[in-house]
Amino acid sequence: MRLVMLGGPGSGKGTQSKELSQVLGNTVISTGDILRESIANQTPLGIQAQEYVEKGELVPDIMMIEFIKERLIRSDVENGWILEGYPRSAFQAEELDFLLEDLNQHLDRAIYLKVSEETMKQRSFQRGKADDKPEIVDRRIKNFNEVTVSILEFYEYKKKLLTIDAEKNSQEVKEDILKNLKS
Ligand code: AMP
Repeated sequence: MRLVMLGGPGSGKGTQSKELSQVLGNTVISTGDILRESIANQTPLGIQAQEYVEKGELVPDIMMIEFIKERLIRSDVENGWILEGYPRSAFQAEELDFLLEDLNQHLDRAIYLKVSEETMKQRSFQRGKADDKPEIVDRRIKNFNEVTVSILEFYEYKKKLLTIDAEKNSQEVKEDILKNLKS
């Protein structure tokens, strides 16, 4: 199964992607985790992305699109994938569509984990990653509202969007997702 996982900071994208991949047997590709790891290891991608991630800004589309192009041709995606935190902009979403067509990979669903801004803030502060500081979280929420929300309409139009109430506890959220994927 091939899924896109969408949601603001602290919406549970990471947790749900891991849980779902265990049930579905597909590979999680978390752009946030990959970027943080690349920065820690100062790889070429990490060096270029660092200034954006550390400020809570979105990394330029062109860099992310190139990265995904290379990532989706690796052999570990044969059993499908969960893109966690990608796409993040309308441009990324459109380019992903073209890429999947080229690769003959079919997207099953885009799952939107819907939570309030209050929940985004609370959960981000509790988890305390390097880019979870208050002013950076505010910037990430702003980016989510200004840039990422537009792609919900994109997937809605394509009849792929599955909106899940992610205020519930993670077990309930996971069950809701699995129930909806079956139907
Ligand atoms: P996340 O853990 O998914 O919230 O991502 C952490 C940070 O990585 C974001 O605040 C962005 O700076 C960057 N990032 C992750 N995914 C993307 C993406 N698809 N496009 C642009 N920037 C991204």
